[in-house]
Amino acid sequence: MLKKILLNKLGNAKLNGDEIISCCPNPEHEDNSPSFTFNTKKCIGYCHSEGRYISLKELMSWLDFEYDRNCVYNNINTLDIKKTLKNKKKNEFNNITIDINGFEHNNITTDYLIKRGFNPEELYLKYKITGRNNLFIDNKFYNAIVIPYIVNKKIIFLINRVIGHEYTRYYYEPKSISLKDKVWGLEYIDDIDNMIICEGIFNTLTWMKLGYKSVCILGSKINKNKIVGKIGHRPILNFDLDNAGIKCYNEFNRIFKGKTYNLLLKKDANEYLIENKIELLLNKLFKLNI
Ligand SMILES: [Zn+2]
Repeated sequence: MLKKILLNKLGNAKLNGDEIISCCPNPEHEDNSPSFTFNTKKCIGYCHSEGRYISLKELMSWLDFEYDRNCVYNNINTLDIKKTLKNKKKNEFNNITIDINGFEHNNITTDYLIKRGFNPEELYLKYKITGRNNLFIDNKFYNAIVIPYIVNKKIIFLINRVIGHEYTRYYYEPKSISLKDKVWGLEYIDDIDNMIICEGIFNTLTWMKLGYKSVCILGSKINKNKIVGKIGHRPILNFDLDNAGIKCYNEFNRIFKGKTYNLLLKKDANEYLIENKIELLLNKLFKLNI
């Protein structure tokens, strides 16, 4: 898949076996004849004109691996959404407006995001992800990260990642939304090839930040009915290697009859962000030979 992205992003790029050949992407090297090669197996580039190796990290800094907030929604079929929403409680979704401008980060939500490798301000500007300290659950107030589910620039519902509650990790608004057994967003997306399915929202945000399509499941139960019709595809799976994560891998492998790519990361994807080891993360993706 990175192969595809590199082929797209590099000017005049061609694929020759395991090698991508293109003009040199170094902004300081004005290259009109293709002098750059990138070995997708070894995951390293070489500029024949400069006579030096170029790491994936350096390459990424030159190419625009920018966060694309639309990438996960690119393939949304709006008719499907309307149908799905109609099947749910009708009135609740007609003209729903949720004003998230009133929510502000406090120290707890800010710390939570920073520790996971995200800049709260950037998340707000790009995804409208913010925090709040007034979520009332079980007669008590809790802090939460507010994650809006946005379709066609409209907020359809809110996912609150609750911090500090013993049992409730996610709290949905409107309350009738219950996504416990669903893959968040997957039902709205036609094509799940090259889609990275994650266990949690922060791994999904990491992949989106790197320009990949990604959705997450919230909870470990998977409702097979939600992914029927996508069975012929081959998703990329990124779950934890703990009991719950392995259960997810097995479940998806069973549903997709073994036709999945399994990332089997020892750490969370966003931990690679925190440790500044994105190159390692992308190497894992490369090794799947997608
Ligand atoms: Zn060069």
